Amino acid sequence: MRVAVVGAGIIGTTTALAVKTAFPRLQVHVIADEFSPDTTGDGSAGFWSPYLLEDTPLDKIDSWAGITHRWLETLWKSGLSSETGVSLVPAYRVTSDPKGYIESSWTKLVYGAHRMTRIELEKLNEEHKSKYTDGWMFVTYTAEPVRLLPWLTEKFLEAGGKLFRRKVHALHELIDEGYDLIINCSGLGARTLVDDNTVTSVRGQVARVTASWTMHAFLMDDDDGNYVIPNIDHTVLGGTHQYNDYDRAPRKEDSKFIYDGCCRISPSLKATKVSKEWVGLRPGRPCVRLEPEVLRSPRGTRFTVIHNYGHGGSGVTLCWGCAMDVVAILRERQTLNSNL
Ligand SMILES: Cc1cc2nc3c(=O)[nH]c(=O)nc-3n(C[C@H](O)[C@H](O)[C@H](O)COP(=O)(O)OP(=O)(O)OC[C@H]3O[C@@H](n4cnc5c(N)ncnc54)[C@H](O)[C@@H]3O)c2cc1C
Repeated sequence: MRVAVVGAGIIGTTTALAVKTAFPRLQVHVIADEFSPDTTGDGSAGFWSPYLLEDTPLDKIDSWAGITHRWLETLWKSGLSSETGVSLVPAYRVTSDPKGYIESSWTKLVYGAHRMTRIELEKLNEEHKSKYTDGWMFVTYTAEPVRLLPWLTEKFLEAGGKLFRRKVHALHELIDEGYDLIINCSGLGARTLVDDNTVTSVRGQVARVTASWTMHAFLMDDDDGNYVIPNIDHTVLGGTHQYNDYDRAPRKEDSKFIYDGCCRISPSLKATKVSKEWVGLRPGRPCVRLEPEVLRSPRGTRFTVIHNYGHGGSGVTLCWGCAMDVVAILRERQTLNSNL
C-alpha cells in the first residue's frame, strides 16, 4: 500500500516518520515543493509553547503539546542535542494585560512551573520599565527545526521512506498515480490545495544575533510583545504576528520594533549586531484541522485524505502529538488494517 504525505515542514516530516515507524510495511512518500531549510519552521526558534491557536479546543492542545513535550524529553535524553537541536531552556512568559491573566493549562506539562509573585513582577517591571500583571517561570525545550528537520528526515529515509520534490496541483493527481491514501500536511498551502479559505497567513518576522550569554527565554504575551529565545548558535529576537499578511520580505519598521523591544527586555543585547533577519508565514486557522475526509476524484474514484494542517504559531509544539493522532486514525481504519 502506498501513502503520500504532502508537505515536508515540521508537520509533514514528523507525520511521515511516525507513520513509517508504526507501519513499516507501508510505502510512505513525502511529496513537497519546499524542504528544509526553506520551510516555515526553519527560521523559528522552535520554542515549545502553545501560541496563536485561535479556537482550537484546549483539551486537544494540551494532549498534542503534552505528547510532543514528552517526545522532546526522550530526544533530549538521547544526548544528541547538537544533531537534533533539542535543548532545555528556563523561560519566563509574561503579560501586561490589565486583566492580568495568562491562559495556563499548559503549565502542568512543563517543568517547575511557578506563577510569579507580586514582588517578582514588581522587580521585573522596574528592570524592564514595564507593566507586567501576570507571569510564569518554567523550564521547557527548544527544538530548532533547522537541525531537527534534517535529523528526522534522515531517520525517515533510514526507515525506508522516500522524498519527492514537486508541486501537487490537486490531491486526486496522487490517486491517479497509484497512491492509496493521502496525508495532507501542506500548512498554508492548504488554502489552494484543498480550497480552505479559513487558512490564512500570520506573518512573523524575527532576527538572529550572537549572544552566547543569553541563558533563558523571555516571552511577552501582549499583542505588541517581544521575545528573546536562545538557540544553540544564535539568540532569536522576535517578533511580529501580522494577520492576512503575505509579505515575505523583512520590513525596516519591524526590524526596529524587534531590536528596540528586545534590548529593553535584555539591555546586554545592545552589544550585538543582527546577523540575519527572516520572515515566515504561519499557517493560521480558526482551529487545527486533523481529521480524515473521503473525497471523489473527477474519474469517480473515492479516496481518503487525512488532513493535518493549520498549526498557527505552534507547529513545533504540537507536531509529535498530531503525528500520533494520524497514526491512531490509521489504526482505526479496519478496512486498511489488513494492508498495513
Ligand atoms: C517567525 C516564526 C516563529 C515561530 N516560532 C515558533 C516556535 O517557537 N514554536 C512553535 O511551535 N512554532 C513556531 N512557529 C510556527 C511554526 O513554525 C509553524 O506552525 C510550522 O512551521 C508549520 O509547519 P507545517 O509543516 O504545517 O507548514 P510548512 O513548514 O509551511 O510546510 C508546508 C509544506 O507543504 C508543502 N506544500 C504546500 N502546498 C504544497 C503543494 N501544493 N504541493 C507540494 N507541496 C506543498 C510545502 O512545500 C512545505 O513542505 C513560528 C513561525 C514563525 C513564522
